[in-house]
Amino acid sequence: MLPLPRFRMFRPTTVAEAAGLLRDLGEDAQLVAGGTDLLPNMKHGLVGARALVSLQNVAALKGVRVERQSLRIGALTTLESLAEDGRIRELAPGLAEAAEAVGGPHHRRMGTLGGNLCLDTRCRYYNQTHFWRSALGFCLKKDGTVCHVVAGGQKCVAAASNDTAPALIALDATISLESVRGEREVPARSFYTADGIYNTTRERDEIVTAVTLPIVPGRTSGFDKLRRRNAIDFPLLSVAARVDRDEGGIAALDIVVSALAARPRRLAAAAKVPPGTRPSMDLVHRLSEAAKKECRPLDNVEGDAEWRHEMVPLLVERLSRRLGLG
Ligand SMILES: Cc1cc2nc3c(=O)[nH]c(=O)nc-3n(C[C@H](O)[C@H](O)[C@H](O)COP(=O)(O)OP(=O)(O)OC[C@H]3O[C@@H](n4cnc5c(N)ncnc54)[C@H](O)[C@@H]3O)c2cc1C
Ligand code: SF4
Repeated sequence: MLPLPRFRMFRPTTVAEAAGLLRDLGEDAQLVAGGTDLLPNMKHGLVGARALVSLQNVAALKGVRVERQSLRIGALTTLESLAEDGRIRELAPGLAEAAEAVGGPHHRRMGTLGGNLCLDTRCRYYNQTHFWRSALGFCLKKDGTVCHVVAGGQKCVAAASNDTAPALIALDATISLESVRGEREVPARSFYTADGIYNTTRERDEIVTAVTLPIVPGRTSGFDKLRRRNAIDFPLLSVAARVDRDEGGIAALDIVVSALAARPRRLAAAAKVPPGTRPSMDLVHRLSEAAKKECRPLDNVEGDAEWRHEMVPLLVERLSRRLGLG
């Protein structure tokens, strides 16, 4: 068993107090919510925090609220409660399915939406013990200077592995952030960057406070995931989709593929489907073929990259058919 390094623990009860602590403690501090990713990463020497600011006692960050035309979900809402919430299952089933696909029951009971959104990227050469990584001379993302995935690469391409991220991008969600400088909102589709070392536009002293989803009549959504076992494992690939329908047919469509590289990928072919298109198997085949062309998994996580590439169109087709696109 790997020991946890020593750290100081702070337990604020308001967002303002937590934000003040992040400012005062500076680079030494990290936020912790459920701790299901941060604590294993600290044991592996991937995170060197000497102080943790726990969000567990910040009641304002918990729970789901239905507003006039939106769903507002507090960042500390657990994945288990998201997966089980009848309002989420009805209005944003893609998010409920994504939450249900995370890890195992214990991870979902402790793990939170905010922690999932801010999950560190993953790589087969990074999520290892310090001893293991030292044998390879470490890598760009932590303690080293080379990338073992892309020979000669100057940029880390570790994979976004958070299951709720593609679902929230497809659902056109907005992420609320707060720091001592104030509050701001970022569309989920602009939250992630292509930098595997730190793949979000969140400033390090900002707290994700909530996620807001628009409620749109005629909307349906779904999520699918490739993994070794049907529980516990991180994604080898994930696909989320959202379909808006009206009397004319498909009014809008978004498909997002993730666990490819540092940023989830919105399929250009899906965004280009013209309003009024009727569902058909031809449409499903065009989308799945385009997905194979647009998405190229890297050799960054477990599973042969070529096999994962072959699985992209299959996952897109399976989800598109389930959502009635053909
Ligand atoms: C065996 C195992 C299997 C797993 N399988 C999966 C899987 O299949 N899919 C998946 O998506 N995840 C998986 N996970 C990872 C993890 O359990 C989930 O991603 C979980 O949702 C993380 O949430 P948390 O609250 O525990 O985050 P924490 O571990 O507390 O934090 C994770 C990161 O987010 C930051 N953070 C937390 N809350 C906030 C906030 N409100 N604002 C800003 N930053 C914040 C923390 O500082 C930290 O950097 C797995 C973990 C393990 C150990
Ligand atoms: S992609 Fe390269 S730099 Fe990034 S974690 Fe993997 S080996 Fe390291």
